[in-house]
Amino acid sequence: MSKTYRSQLVGCFGDPVDENPTGVMEEAAFAAAGVDFRYLTMRVEAGKLGDAFAGIRAMNFRGINLTIPHKVEGLKYMDSLSRAAQIIGAVNMVVIEDGKTFGENTDGRGYLMSLEQAGIDIRGKNLTVLGAGGAARAICVESALAGAAKVTVINRSEERGEELAALIREKTDAEAVYLPWTAGMAVPADTDILANATSIGLFPNVDQKPEIDYDSVTKDMVVTDVIFNDPNSLFLQESAKRGAKTIDGLGMLINQGALNFKLWTGVDPSYEVMRAVLMKEFGLDG
Ligand code: NDP
Repeated sequence: MSKTYRSQLVGCFGDPVDENPTGVMEEAAFAAAGVDFRYLTMRVEAGKLGDAFAGIRAMNFRGINLTIPHKVEGLKYMDSLSRAAQIIGAVNMVVIEDGKTFGENTDGRGYLMSLEQAGIDIRGKNLTVLGAGGAARAICVESALAGAAKVTVINRSEERGEELAALIREKTDAEAVYLPWTAGMAVPADTDILANATSIGLFPNVDQKPEIDYDSVTKDMVVTDVIFNDPNSLFLQESAKRGAKTIDGLGMLINQGALNFKLWTGVDPSYEVMRAVLMKEFGLDG
């Protein structure tokens, strides 16, 4: 093939997006894999997503990530959708092939990969999730589709919590219930996997943790967090003190980035390179 001076283009649309480290992680992985791709972090305000999609189609982008506030709005601009993105009702990554947009949601699969990497099989397990926002929806839907027996949604807003439990009952084979969140409530005793899918504890609020009764966490539970900065969240620290096995949110972030990388480039990225870059960005290396 003749030499090309044109890189394949991908990136991210969001607002706010300036502090999103995904581009640094993906570009380091592109370099390590020797693929000629560039990742641009772009501020696209609410209401401008249609213009932004027209732009990247015209410029022959290979794909794009969508983050706040575009994950749900993005559905409008998709020619086709994965089953998960359809059920979750949100798109976090897009592949553009021959001018056609394919919308996918890799957050939930990134979460399941983190479980697998820790040797945890979701099939037949009871999952209890704190939160009912975008991350919680992705985790609950993918876990239920992958064979979780039961999903218990605990959320502050009853409407969002009930809606997510109903979605799981309607669209998957898993049992699903909603429990209102009362401060200091006990984790249901039948929980195998407890997931924090709220934004509580995210930098700079690293001194905060979800208000549950940590003495109801047992050594037989696996406890996971979506919080990636700092990955050693208070939620995980308190759970580890009770003997639970813990899995941090950095793995999920890297896994969804790795899934996106593979969908765009067709090759597998280096997980180690991606992790090292993020640790450095968060000032956690060494
Ligand atoms: P959303 O805004 O969609 O949802 C936030 C959720 O947190 C809601 O359920 C909300 O409850 C709950 N919540 C927030 N503050 C409180 C509080 N003080 N008390 C009780 N509940 C609270 O956000 P996302 O779901 O998109 O993101 C959640 C977190 O997950 C973020 O920190 C994000 O960075 C992280 N994330 C991590 C990923 C990873 O790969 N590691 C991937 C995606 C997200 P309510 O409904 O009552 O408002």
